[in-house]
Amino acid sequence: MSNSKSNTFDVIVIGVGGMGSATCLHLAKRGVRVLGLEQFDIPHGLGSSHGYSRMIRLAYFNHADYVPLLRQAYLLWQQLENDYGGLCGGGKLIHLTTGLYIGPPGCRVVDGSLKACLQHNLGHDKLSHADLAHEYPQFTLPEDYAGLRDHSAGFVLPERANSAHSELAMRAGAELHGREPVLGWTSDGKTATVTTTRATYHAARLVFTGGAWTVGLLKDLGVKLLVTRQMLGWTWPRTPDHFKLGQFPVWILDLPDGDNYYGFPMMPDNPGFKFAYDKRGIPSEPDRLQREPTADDEARLRPFLKDFIPSADGPLLSIRACMYTNSPDHQFILDRHPTHPNVSLACGFSGHGYKFAPVIGQIMADLALEGRSTLPIEFLGLNRFAKS
Ligand SMILES: Cc1cc2nc3c(=O)[nH]c(=O)nc-3n(C[C@H](O)[C@H](O)[C@H](O)COP(=O)(O)OP(=O)(O)OC[C@H]3O[C@@H](n4cnc5c(N)ncnc54)[C@H](O)[C@@H]3O)c2cc1C
Repeated sequence: MSNSKSNTFDVIVIGVGGMGSATCLHLAKRGVRVLGLEQFDIPHGLGSSHGYSRMIRLAYFNHADYVPLLRQAYLLWQQLENDYGGLCGGGKLIHLTTGLYIGPPGCRVVDGSLKACLQHNLGHDKLSHADLAHEYPQFTLPEDYAGLRDHSAGFVLPERANSAHSELAMRAGAELHGREPVLGWTSDGKTATVTTTRATYHAARLVFTGGAWTVGLLKDLGVKLLVTRQMLGWTWPRTPDHFKLGQFPVWILDLPDGDNYYGFPMMPDNPGFKFAYDKRGIPSEPDRLQREPTADDEARLRPFLKDFIPSADGPLLSIRACMYTNSPDHQFILDRHPTHPNVSLACGFSGHGYKFAPVIGQIMADLALEGRSTLPIEFLGLNRFAKS
């Protein structure tokens, strides 16, 4: 049974993961009555926001229009860390380490990041092959590889950040329900009704932040979202001190075929050297995801270490599965529902969304309460998929 005095809210947020927990906080801080509904525990490790670290970078090769949103995200991450520490006794949420982007001539990661640096006046250093060999001897690189150092990059801690957003949301008055899957919803344009395994709720506005489950929750969206299985690996390096937090950066290494590997410095509470392959994984359904690693998963990850970071090619500590929810153009979808004006949605984060979580929370609160956001999100609207 619901603990709520009434089952009517101003806004209901469906999915309290990375984006939903941030949305609940931003709505609650604006004084509205908000209910967040989550099918699993709050927090949990079964969606897309687990694995101890998520890279954050300002020199954005994916699309330079994200940079203004990232600047706001950086401010909000810092504010979240301060509030979490001050109100809840929480620890650090963001580590700035610098970012190292490496690749062959003309590659997207180095050239695209440089373009964003020049366009938005971001601190960076260009690194030749000789510079890389001197400053980052952990990498063994082909002669034609060069690099770029992004002064503003680092990583955020997703499990802790989801906890911070959730706890601060509740302290600001939001009601969050874990272990309460949403079974269905309707809207007549003015009032929405949401049915869960426990109760029926009503609200003037609905926000969907269902991650990989969006495909089932929003069947009439008219945009194809592809969920893929993505694997993360951790090894114990042969020379662990060479990968220490405070000395070693977050990094992305582009391969000649355009795929890339990326990774992190070693960090407390998560032993080992974390790295992953950014290539789109096997298409999956979130409720049928193969969570247990297979022998193939390690076989796919390992050769990269042997070739490019041999001193990290030590014993395997762990392999975990996660999900990307890919939009057709790999960019996010932040908009109001095409046929229900009181419903808005944030989905299709395509493997690069977590660093934006607090600013997505702000944007979704804007869309729910004002119908529009003052932040520049036009390039992320649904109408870009409209057939001409
Ligand atoms: C391996 C991997 C590495 C990544 N690396 C990075 C990185 O370095 N930097 C970066 O910025 N991003 C990265 N990302 C992407 C980023 O993690 C995701 O974009 C982000 O976590 C998506 O958040 P979300 O809120 O959409 O999904 P989730 O956090 O999964 O939240 C969706 C929530 O909705 C809930 N839900 C769904 N259906 C229902 C229902 N019917 N009823 C109730 N609740 C429901 C789910 O249980 C879940 O909690 C990575 C992703 C992966 C998989």
